[in-house]
Amino acid sequence: MAQALQSIEKIKYVQEVPPLTDTHCHLDLFQNAAAVVNDAFSHGVRTIITSGGSAKGNEATSKIVKILSVFGVVGIDPASSGAESEYIDSYVAMIKSNPRLVGIGEIGLDSHVEEKNPPEVQKSAFIRQIRIANELGVPVVIHSRGRMADVIKVTDEHKPEKAMFHFFEGDVEQARYLAGKGHMISIPPRYSSRMKRIINEIDLSSMVAETDAPVAGKTPSDIREVVEAISSIKKLEFGDVAEALSENAKVFFHI
Ligand SMILES: [Zn+2]
Repeated sequence: MAQALQSIEKIKYVQEVPPLTDTHCHLDLFQNAAAVVNDAFSHGVRTIITSGGSAKGNEATSKIVKILSVFGVVGIDPASSGAESEYIDSYVAMIKSNPRLVGIGEIGLDSHVEEKNPPEVQKSAFIRQIRIANELGVPVVIHSRGRMADVIKVTDEHKPEKAMFHFFEGDVEQARYLAGKGHMISIPPRYSSRMKRIINEIDLSSMVAETDAPVAGKTPSDIREVVEAISSIKKLEFGDVAEALSENAKVFFHI
């Protein structure tokens, strides 16, 4: 009886906590993804979108979303864009047959891997995947490291219907420009003065929040701190920000 009451208390607690959504993490990089997800759910995280990026990561991601109550995106990232671009077409069937795969990502350009995969190789994989996403009617999750201007040029030319700029690295003008095009700026757990300005000046309706765990944040539970930071910088109520950002993610990924 005591135990039953305790679990009712817990359910009540979780329902009363504003919904938290982590729009970008890599569950395939954890030893025990189930434990990580359970921990996040017990801390009020309601929705998690885990990201692939390599052939191996995409296989793992498509399995994880079938077993755990999370969503995922699959695609070939810049680091994998040379040798693994041959897999790109196979993700069409993978996404079509799995309703929990809700987009293509992460895709984009990365200046740190240009020795391995020259800019033209990265760009061609990036463009091909934008086209596939548009054919499928799904959003793209974009990765940029040191190549923000080029990434914006590609998205302007090849027009993904909806793009989320994961771990946004651009400046406030670029953020404003992309938000104006209807794209999403994803706020990571790093609060430089540049990021604070972006959080301050970009409307909440063009924003989502991510941990990029385990790369930046430790686990998806860390999304609470990201939402807390956004609410304190924007001087808004935590609950309102959590609700709004979760709703943005829902609409963006059609979930
Ligand atoms: Zn990532």
